[in-house]
Amino acid sequence: MKTLTGHRGLDHEEGLLFEQGQAGRSGVDLPTPPSVKPRLGGLERKAPIGLPGLSEPQVIRHFVRLSRKNYAIDAGIYPLGSCTMKHNPRLNEKLVRLPGLADIHPLQPISTVQGALELIDRLAHWLKTLTGMAAVALSPAAGAHGELCGLLAIRAAHKAKGEDATRRVVLVPESAHGTNPATAAQAGYAVASIPADARGRVDVAALEAALGPGIAAVMLTNPNTCGLFEPEMKRIADAVHKAGAFFYCDGANFNAIVGKVRPGDLGVDAMHINLHKTFSTPHGGGGPGAGPVVLSAALAPFAPVPYVTAGREGLGLVEHAEGSGSLGRLKAFHGQMGMMVRALAYMLSHGGDGLRQVAEDAVLNANYVLARLKDAMTPAFPGFCMHEALFDDRFLRGSGVSTLDFAKAMIDQGFHPMTMYFPLVVDGALLIEPTETESREGLDEFVAALRGLAERAKQGGAEVFKAAPALAPRRRLDETRAARQPVLRWKPDAASKAAAD
Ligand SMILES: *Cc1c(COP(=O)(O)O)cnc(C)c1O
Repeated sequence: MKTLTGHRGLDHEEGLLFEQGQAGRSGVDLPTPPSVKPRLGGLERKAPIGLPGLSEPQVIRHFVRLSRKNYAIDAGIYPLGSCTMKHNPRLNEKLVRLPGLADIHPLQPISTVQGALELIDRLAHWLKTLTGMAAVALSPAAGAHGELCGLLAIRAAHKAKGEDATRRVVLVPESAHGTNPATAAQAGYAVASIPADARGRVDVAALEAALGPGIAAVMLTNPNTCGLFEPEMKRIADAVHKAGAFFYCDGANFNAIVGKVRPGDLGVDAMHINLHKTFSTPHGGGGPGAGPVVLSAALAPFAPVPYVTAGREGLGLVEHAEGSGSLGRLKAFHGQMGMMVRALAYMLSHGGDGLRQVAEDAVLNANYVLARLKDAMTPAFPGFCMHEALFDDRFLRGSGVSTLDFAKAMIDQGFHPMTMYFPLVVDGALLIEPTETESREGLDEFVAALRGLAERAKQGGAEVFKAAPALAPRRRLDETRAARQPVLRWKPDAASKAAAD
């Protein structure tokens, strides 16, 4: 079956390797094994294993072609709001491949990995300094895992005070990332939602009214998921603490304020930092993330193991939680060491002043996009934004074009769509995060494409939008079905099975 672009523009349509393979073909030519007495006691395989028979070039071409169907940050702007898809500097990649870092093993004797421990310790120092917090747990493997770490530390603190049984609810604003309520539920809490006000900020009066002896914590994102700064942090922190609760900040958007504001000064008790967002380590299809959690002095005693300590014989690791307040272990070994190396490389290559400029340039780029698009599309809220520009679908009303159609049409213009329909507090949201690593020229091309599409939608080109993307290898996929009923295993159809047998 061919796609619309089938075999055109170097875009090949081909089956799976299993469908391409032919019985009896092989990429290697091995000598016949000497006959030995079977020692498997009758357990040896009776039927062929069913691997596809292919030559080496067939396999390599298949995977290279597949890789060319991928969109990546190395191919162009990746404007997904909330995801912070910034350039991954090659210097980071060079350093993480140094044999002294790449080839060590977590079970090596401590005396042989002093440099690696020093690196972890130095990263911890940078994260504590940048956030103004007392402690940091480096082992969480992603932002959502960091949230879990933070809430488990909060729970341990309430337990230590004998209040765990009564404090059963976590307050989460309705604009929050989906991971926040999911984390609270995973940590054993009920979730209560706090509304947003007309300016896209959390309704502080509603939050204060909801506080009480049953509240364990408040989870707030700053800058929030509308790309706006929450200005009432101190007031919220004071109210939360007065009510005996803890203040969790979702720090996934730290890239907008790094070097400018220290969350510790705002009264935050716990915050995760996505190294893969703020500090440029690869994520999505590009690699794992890392979600260190900074903790206030009140929560530091409950931090998970392992952590680095200085002893008489150099650096050591505290690996066991028994007899301490520690919440225990969240991850095998020490966390995503490769991401820690990359993040520290990024910090050291920018320096403190460079990190401040990262935040300033990220905010500048987002405001440039907002300013250049605000007469063509409809900004969700008035005024400046932080690191991402949020639009709603009012500019599409009456055109027959939905946010989804608009995003799909961007693909035909050669651009990856922005985040759609998130945050939920905005109708048909389109959330654009350019990051600081896009050039002025790149942003101008992006803006021109979006202005052109907005113009076409208003002039009544709905059919083109409904049919988009026309130039991608596939049209519109049933994403819900793909997520709910993933087909993870290839099974031969009857005819090819018979042929193989
Ligand atoms: C990305 C993000 C998260 C989750 O981080 P992961 O590393 O994807 O688990 C949480 N909150 C916000 C606001 C985010 O943008």
